[in-house]
Amino acid sequence: MRVLLLGAGGKVGAALGPRLAESGHEVTPVGRDDDWDPSGHDAAVDFTRPDAARANVERCLAAGLATVVGTTGLTADDLASIDSLARDRGVVCFAAPNFAIGAVLMMRLSALAAEHMPRAEIIELHHETKVDAPSGTAKATAKRLPGEVPIHSVRLPGLVAHQEVLFGGEGQLLTIRHDTFSREAFVPGVLLALERLPTLDPGLTVGLDALLD
Ligand code: NAP
Repeated sequence: MRVLLLGAGGKVGAALGPRLAESGHEVTPVGRDDDWDPSGHDAAVDFTRPDAARANVERCLAAGLATVVGTTGLTADDLASIDSLARDRGVVCFAAPNFAIGAVLMMRLSALAAEHMPRAEIIELHHETKVDAPSGTAKATAKRLPGEVPIHSVRLPGLVAHQEVLFGGEGQLLTIRHDTFSREAFVPGVLLALERLPTLDPGLTVGLDALLD
């Protein structure tokens, strides 16, 4: 595929670009101040910033380009607008708060644990330059659990992306934890999303879960 990679110079983009190329994709890298043109591509991938992603994605969709969104921190309004535009144009858009397969399993296992131990809290820990808090993964996990689940956000140097879901019961604690040690963790999920784009319905599909079954 000819892939427009928005945010190619960022921490995720820099890990993703070479791996997309190794997998046979032809990559057009785009940085913040670059002029870019969606035409001549088969898909776009956006790993930029919450305040840039909506405009980027809507520009791609308006041009008829199927788009994979990795950027987190988009508002419900942003996502509704993206969904509506994608449906109007008959174009596929796929977004996931976490492209690491292990994180998706963490969310699934947490939903299972909550059936038996409903009192839960989430601790999410990320590198100090992450712009949004709580993380998209923490919010997505909380949505799958009963009640209002408190989320605690930690931002420290040395961290990449980590999350613990703690389930408390009488005299016991169950902890489900996922650690991302490098941005390579997100590559297989993005490759899977690109491969599955042609099989998705027009509009916005959210979550890697939707592609795993
Ligand atoms: P980052 O290192 O800050 O990279 C973002 C890149 O986007 C920077 O190179 C930035 O350029 C560039 N950029 C900013 N505005 C742009 C624009 N309008 N058009 C094109 N490029 C633009 O951040 P990151 O750690 O790579 O993360 C990027 C996003 O992905 C964040 O929202 C993060 O939360 C999310 N993320 C998602 C997942 C997932 O699995 N879904 C995993 C990790 C991260 P400048 O440096 O010049 O501003």
